[in-house]
Amino acid sequence: MSPVRPTLQVVGRRMDAEHYRLRDFLTRSAQPYEWHEAGSADADQLLEKLGLQGAALPVLVDVEQTFQGATVESIIAAWGPDYRSAKRKHYDFVVIGAGPAGLAAAVYAASDGLATLVCDTDLPGGQASYATLIENFFGFPEGIGGAELTRLAARQAERFGAELLFLRGVRGSRMNGHDEPVGLILDDGSEVSASVVLATTGMDWTRLELKGIDDLIGDGVYYGAGRSEAAQCSGQDVVVVGAGNSAGQAVLNFANQTARVTMLVRGESLSKSMSAYLIERIEKHPLIDVHLETVLTELHTNDGALSGVTFTDSAGKMQDQAVDGVFLCIGGSPHTEWCSREHVLTDERGYILTGQDLVADGKLPDCWPLERDPLPLETSRVGLFAAGDVRHGSTKRVAAAVGEGSMVASLIFSRLAELGVSY
Ligand SMILES: Cc1cc2nc3c(=O)[nH]c(=O)nc-3n(C[C@H](O)[C@H](O)[C@H](O)COP(=O)(O)OP(=O)(O)OC[C@H]3O[C@@H](n4cnc5c(N)ncnc54)[C@H](O)[C@@H]3O)c2cc1C
Repeated sequence: MSPVRPTLQVVGRRMDAEHYRLRDFLTRSAQPYEWHEAGSADADQLLEKLGLQGAALPVLVDVEQTFQGATVESIIAAWGPDYRSAKRKHYDFVVIGAGPAGLAAAVYAASDGLATLVCDTDLPGGQASYATLIENFFGFPEGIGGAELTRLAARQAERFGAELLFLRGVRGSRMNGHDEPVGLILDDGSEVSASVVLATTGMDWTRLELKGIDDLIGDGVYYGAGRSEAAQCSGQDVVVVGAGNSAGQAVLNFANQTARVTMLVRGESLSKSMSAYLIERIEKHPLIDVHLETVLTELHTNDGALSGVTFTDSAGKMQDQAVDGVFLCIGGSPHTEWCSREHVLTDERGYILTGQDLVADGKLPDCWPLERDPLPLETSRVGLFAAGDVRHGSTKRVAAAVGEGSMVASLIFSRLAELGVSY
């Protein structure tokens, strides 16, 4: 990742999808820029000053260079080394997915001297790069922008010698014999192999289409709800949207920490999607108020901060309520299209099973070939690990993803020793 440049000037059209892609790239790379809407007086003035009236948009003005018809690809190619082709055929360690989990693993593995490659279909940063402010990450009492955090992590990984590929994902895998390297097919058809592979491909949350929601994500409105949030919401009013087990668990965590919880459930009962023991506890808890056949319809703000919500039942009756936090536990889908399900076992929702989660009825799966048990975070394919949001049972938080990624970096050596590779 090249260091942040002085503020760029960009002329483009807000509503054009390609221009949006460029803006998104700059935002998620934590690169400062000023946007001049095409046709506005200041955009015309800038283009005139540069002698670029009539130039193909978007125009991007950097210190040394001006780009016409700028694209993410042309900017990346001009700014950096080649981020789209792998330099080697074989690596000690390949990480699939450059979100917080993958970048953390790369920092530690590369700093331990392993030939490390990290590749991502998109830009580095994962979901965290969309978070305006991450307030619950260790060491940043005032919070840190998600794009800033992941940009620094990517630079740190590179400083230690990790190779980064972006806009270059993994589309398939070759799981040869368990004592042979794993083959990975990149989306341009090229292949690399690795002694150890880590899948940190994350997930996509099901999005709620609500006005103003994007500005509040991470700042009053959250996808998922970890135990740490529950502890911080003691005595507050919170809304939890969802009806699965993760929503049920979240509701109880909040209420047990003395938060007053309003649970919004689209369906007509909880029993379709939630375990009976959770339902029983929810029904008995005095601080939990369940609204069935009800959806969240509006978010209210005061001075830009979340202040309340409106929810609407199936008869159209609307109710306003003041709240301190909204937690969306409406599920999502993990990115596991690239891996062979025959070798990498997942739960029924597609999240990758690792370590002791592979044991069913006291037995390891038939595809497990070794005497030893899988290492923690190791999948049913020996030497292929999974960490972060894509892993079954993960916490879906930046710190948890970073912790798991860092942990895998130390487990690599056990696997390399097994393969007879010494460091
Ligand atoms: C808007 C928003 C705000 C958030 N705010 C907070 C917060 O304040 N605090 C907090 O703790 N958590 C927050 N989270 C959650 C947090 O960002 C995630 O838990 C965390 O990013 C998970 O990290 P990960 O590395 O496991 O996966 P991800 O961040 O999902 O990264 C996965 C990466 O893998 C890539 N990928 C997918 N498929 C492939 C493939 N086939 N080949 C190559 N690459 C692939 C993706 O492009 C992506 O870059 C937020 C999430 C969102 C969406």
